[in-house]
Amino acid sequence: MRASGARGQGTNGANGANGAKGAKVTKRVKGRESRKARRERAGVVYELLVEEYPDATCALTHRNPYELAVATILSAQCTDERVNMVTPELFRQWPEPEDLAGARQEELEEVIRSTGFFRNKAANLIGMATAVVRHHGGEIPRSMTDLKKLPGIGRKTANVVLGNAFGVDEGIVVDTHVRRLSRRLGFTREENPEKVEKDLVDLFPPERWTMLAHLLIWHGRAVCKARTPRCEVCVLSRLCPSSSV
Ligand code: SF4
Repeated sequence: MRASGARGQGTNGANGANGAKGAKVTKRVKGRESRKARRERAGVVYELLVEEYPDATCALTHRNPYELAVATILSAQCTDERVNMVTPELFRQWPEPEDLAGARQEELEEVIRSTGFFRNKAANLIGMATAVVRHHGGEIPRSMTDLKKLPGIGRKTANVVLGNAFGVDEGIVVDTHVRRLSRRLGFTREENPEKVEKDLVDLFPPERWTMLAHLLIWHGRAVCKARTPRCEVCVLSRLCPSSSV
């Protein structure tokens, strides 16, 4: 997900927000914090990020739940940009689950080779499509339980599909950016994605879950980078216990 759509690229320019909303909640978050205070801070963080990235969305190109499920499986250990480069050809050759279920593995591998781990991904894609045809009438299921039973689909992928293709806020997508920012922002101390998700779910109301992941991912790419967080231009600096400024 590109940060190019971000307004201000993490500068403090949104509305002086860093000073206004941030100062209302806390000057600087260090040490112990009550659950209530953390929830309030989380709410302000969310609002500031929405102002900063009003166009934040899923960067995987898709037209329906099937295409998003395929793209999300391909995105493991791969950039969204790379996935978006291979999916047009994939969907041209195998436009529906029925087509993909009947794909020859070697041919599919050739199309998705550049996304890495292409043998596993091809097997999972064919397995997923086969299960969708066999057990769900050719339609991607819209429940966490059913999605997680499909080959190649874990909780993270299921959350992506439910939130972005079906508009169902069942959980929060925790990828490497969401986990890193959640830890830096003091929303969790956990490493395990499912435990991180549990902590986030406790802090944010359900209607914010899908967008929250987009916002954290966009901010992680634009400002709170893995190696060198740009705290000096971060709108969250007054609200972040890890801020270096
Ligand atoms: S670590 Fe720095 S860049 Fe990341 S959220 Fe905190 S203040 Fe912003």
